[in-house]
Amino acid sequence: MKNLVTGGAGFVGSHLIDRLMHKGEKVICLDNFLTGNINNIKHWLQDKNFNLIEHDVVDPIEIEVDKIWHLACPASPSKYQKDPIKTTKINFFGAYNMLGLAKKVKAKILLASTSEVYGDPEIHPQPESYKGSVNPIGIRSCYDEGKRISESLFFDYQRQHNIDIKIARIFNTYGPRMNPTDGRVVSNFIVQALKKEALTIFGNGDQTRSFCYVDDLVEGLLLLMESNQNGPINLGNPNEMTIMDLGKMISKKTLSKLDLVEMPLPKDDPHKRKPEIKLAKELLNWNPSVSIDEGLNRTIKYFKKLLSS
Ligand code: NAD
Ligand code: UDP
Repeated sequence: MKNLVTGGAGFVGSHLIDRLMHKGEKVICLDNFLTGNINNIKHWLQDKNFNLIEHDVVDPIEIEVDKIWHLACPASPSKYQKDPIKTTKINFFGAYNMLGLAKKVKAKILLASTSEVYGDPEIHPQPESYKGSVNPIGIRSCYDEGKRISESLFFDYQRQHNIDIKIARIFNTYGPRMNPTDGRVVSNFIVQALKKEALTIFGNGDQTRSFCYVDDLVEGLLLLMESNQNGPINLGNPNEMTIMDLGKMISKKTLSKLDLVEMPLPKDDPHKRKPEIKLAKELLNWNPSVSIDEGLNRTIKYFKKLLSS
């Protein structure tokens, strides 16, 4: 089986590539290194089953593959808001080009969508049937609406061209290989705590997120791709916590004194987020198994090593 992983040099993509390579499959990693890092995939560069193509998904490409895993898109708010027009282009043209490729080579195709399609949700937890509450003109909309148009295109290609599509709505995921400077809360707090700096709490820290360890997420993506489901299916860990509690937990684990600096809550920052994962349990037999306690231990270990090297 020949896989194309767009965004394969990123955090999630590189873990997915590890799993596919360990299964003995062929992998083409396509990435323009906007937020990815060669170190995430360098252990495969000499492997005969692995190929790296430096390419921007905004431009079309033709390659013979059986499965397309479409992950290319910056995921951290600070990164996707840096050049929001580019983010929208990546979401629309990236999906369009990859769906065109899937149609041409008759590949099945999975989209890494997001819980952000629910916006600042009015119902809690969020099931797949919830249509969302997204600000279409806000600073997050390049990403939220970008992923919504990707999903829309995926379903139109299925209806018009009978493409085998899969849509995963991913909730906050963390683990080794997160970019230490990409501004996401888990990496920010761990790096700050290890450097004995104050943790940057946006707002009063009572907003919630539900954090999923990356290995659990990748398992869900693999199950979805091999299933006969199209989705959308939520993949996330329902273990919801406040950002303040996350900060306290990381301070304790890194043996650092809880020192906080309160910063303004970014505009349109969702107040709550928790996945309803009944569909993933029933249809994919998927259930996240790594606790936040264990997941943070592994992630802290990774960042300790990274910061000391
Ligand atoms: P990441 O930023 O680490 O990885 C994204 C990868 O895509 C990077 O390697 C980057 O260089 C590449 N990329 C970006 N634009 C590109 C372009 N135009 N052409 C080619 N490559 C490009 O982010 P991640 O956390 O690994 O997220 C991967 C996917 O999962 C994204 O689509 C993201 O929206 C989705 N997702 C992630 C999370 C999460 O919590 N990590 C949550 C929801 C959805
Ligand atoms: N956050 C924070 N301090 C930081 C980074 C983020 O308090 O240094 C907050 C942010 O405002 C949000 C939550 O943590 O409420 C998760 O942010 P992240 O950027 O990780 O993901 P997203 O907002 O996309 O869920």
